[in-house]
Amino acid sequence: MSDLYERLKAYEGAPAVSGRGRDPVNVAMIRHWCEAMGDTSPAYAGEDPVAPATMLQAWTLGGLTGGAGDRSAAYAELLALLDGAGCTGVVATDCEQEYVRPLRPGDVITFDAVIESVSPRKATGLGTGHFVTTRTEIRAGGELVGSHRFRVLKYAPEPPPAREERPLRPRPVVNRDNAGFWDGVAAHRLLIQRCEACGTLRFPWLPGCGCCGCARWTAVEASGAGTVHSYVVMHHPPVPAFDPPYAVGLIELAEGVRMISNITGAEPGRIRIGMPVSVEFVRVDEGLELPLFRVREGCEAAGS
Ligand code: ZN
Repeated sequence: MSDLYERLKAYEGAPAVSGRGRDPVNVAMIRHWCEAMGDTSPAYAGEDPVAPATMLQAWTLGGLTGGAGDRSAAYAELLALLDGAGCTGVVATDCEQEYVRPLRPGDVITFDAVIESVSPRKATGLGTGHFVTTRTEIRAGGELVGSHRFRVLKYAPEPPPAREERPLRPRPVVNRDNAGFWDGVAAHRLLIQRCEACGTLRFPWLPGCGCCGCARWTAVEASGAGTVHSYVVMHHPPVPAFDPPYAVGLIELAEGVRMISNITGAEPGRIRIGMPVSVEFVRVDEGLELPLFRVREGCEAAGS
């Protein structure tokens, strides 16, 4: 056993956090929880509701400003020891709960957590580290109502492996509903759909008409001319295969439908809403050709 692990193990059984629920169990928080979860069970509403069992931990949380519980000196030392050993990353891994009796509005909660276990150093996808498990007992009026075991991994973050090759752009998802569009791209034709019943043009490709529901359609070739309806310039977060800054536009085609793609041919900072653009088919890597929209000649400074 390593020195560090021996020191970590010494904290097993020590107190972690203890405190008192910020609010007694109450109808408003139960209602908000059920709305967020989409749980319409009558047990949680009406004259004599109970709290959903899975809300157990919610009653122990302090909210944005904290303040529901006090972390023990032992727990703070354990976490500092792990930080000092390079395990500065933390991720929650799992939680097990046991319910003794339902909580009801008016119940006042107290809770006590102990450091149940610290694992030996393990290798994980995030890096090597130690799993720290705490076990919290929750009481109402001194009576045990439930417990939960909560496990976190304190790990030493590893930089992602260096890539020799530039990563490829994400691949489009081609399915039987939109395969015709990608067949068009391969032939350098920008294809949109026209409903055979009402004539409405549509994009992206869908199996039925959004106006009349008709499932019959014809592919028609768009001219490729359009204008910038809206756009964003991406600086952050970094996405592999893309070099920021780059522009992503919502292009309104001359035919009236809108399409999202990159805007090329102008400094991202000079792109403006309303700029005229034309489609160009660009091979972005060996296996992928995409319709991008290039700002039309002489329009680079339009609107600026
Ligand atoms: Zn239609």
